Amino acid sequence: MPWGSVRRGDPDGIELHFDRFASFTQLRDDWTLYHEMAHLYLPLLPYSGFWLSEGFATYMQNIIMRDSKVITRKQFIQRLSAGLERGRQQTRTKQQPLSELADDMWQQGAQQRVYWSGSAFFIEAELALQQQGQSLTQLIKRYRECCYSSKTTAKKLITTFDQLSRSAIFSTLYARYTQRTDFPDITREQLILLR
Ligand SMILES: [Zn+2]
Repeated sequence: MPWGSVRRGDPDGIELHFDRFASFTQLRDDWTLYHEMAHLYLPLLPYSGFWLSEGFATYMQNIIMRDSKVITRKQFIQRLSAGLERGRQQTRTKQQPLSELADDMWQQGAQQRVYWSGSAFFIEAELALQQQGQSLTQLIKRYRECCYSSKTTAKKLITTFDQLSRSAIFSTLYARYTQRTDFPDITREQLILLR
């Protein structure tokens, strides 16, 4: 399995490690590259906002793979569903408020709850945007054009997303998620609605 990380600089980049004999197909089908690329759409956030950055990259890697036909729509739903289940399982033993846990994620090995609570946040945001005839990818595109700044906080980012979507979708969800100690409920029916 390859692994990667984002190198912040001017410009930002990705460092990708993989087997020298990895085939093109293996690299194309692995999620790592899409995950790291998705990180580049948003600035680096402080540790307590990691649930938001990792949730975004995890959700977006699946959107990118679905839309570029690396995975089918069915696989897209399966992957989200399996990931959310891992997050739910881990929440049984990792019950701190989400932003506190994110701050201490590596020490606690709490990646599943942190990544997938964040993904659930963006799934909910996407569904709410869809109701208004918008989408997360459109929103991120506009964010990149008008408002990207390399230094920001989770709160500022959320305010900007609200402004861009002319809604309170993001601040409302953020208030619910940042201190939550349970795992969000996302149904299969909701996943099927994602376009
Ligand atoms: Zn990541």
